[in-house]
Amino acid sequence: MSRFDRKQVNWYATQKLEPYSFVCGHCNNQVSSSLGYKTGHYIDGSGEEKGGVYICPHCHGPTIVAPDGTRLPDVPIGNSVDHVPQDLVDLYEEARRCTSTGCYTASVLVCRKIIMHIGVANGADEGKNFLYYVDHLADAGFVPPNGKTWVDHIRKKGNEANHEIKLITRDDTRELIVFIEMLLRFIYEFPAMMP
Ligand SMILES: [Zn+2]
Repeated sequence: MSRFDRKQVNWYATQKLEPYSFVCGHCNNQVSSSLGYKTGHYIDGSGEEKGGVYICPHCHGPTIVAPDGTRLPDVPIGNSVDHVPQDLVDLYEEARRCTSTGCYTASVLVCRKIIMHIGVANGADEGKNFLYYVDHLADAGFVPPNGKTWVDHIRKKGNEANHEIKLITRDDTRELIVFIEMLLRFIYEFPAMMP
């Protein structure tokens, strides 16, 4: 159910806006909205439209469109995965949610926690570092045979960010989330789909 379910939440005194097409960061649907709140050039909000708040016709959630065109929330990186234990789902969705608000470094830190968690759930020792768990999952056969370059890349990235304070980009975050999505599908979703 949407957090902005029509039965629970109503938007007060909405305005008619120029139709705007976007992928809603709340429900992931491609939508076109012409309802919300305009931000204008002048102090009373009048004048040329400078973005605004658009209400999604599907889930009723609000998306802020800044004057420079950036959206909040934006579409989160990655896809939901079924049959994953709830505590892992919560972490994974949090890592994805971080990407919809531009918090890529925070997302990567949560991603590392997820990889450690998956490692321990699959026979690794507790209390080791991130690289140990990446190696464990690769050695235990959870990464496809042609995924070695991926593992090397993720090891390298993990090593870099551990030793210095360095802000992480959307592309770096995407690599890690895609990697985790693959792990979750192989370890939890595919086995559960078999009768
Ligand atoms: Zn929506």
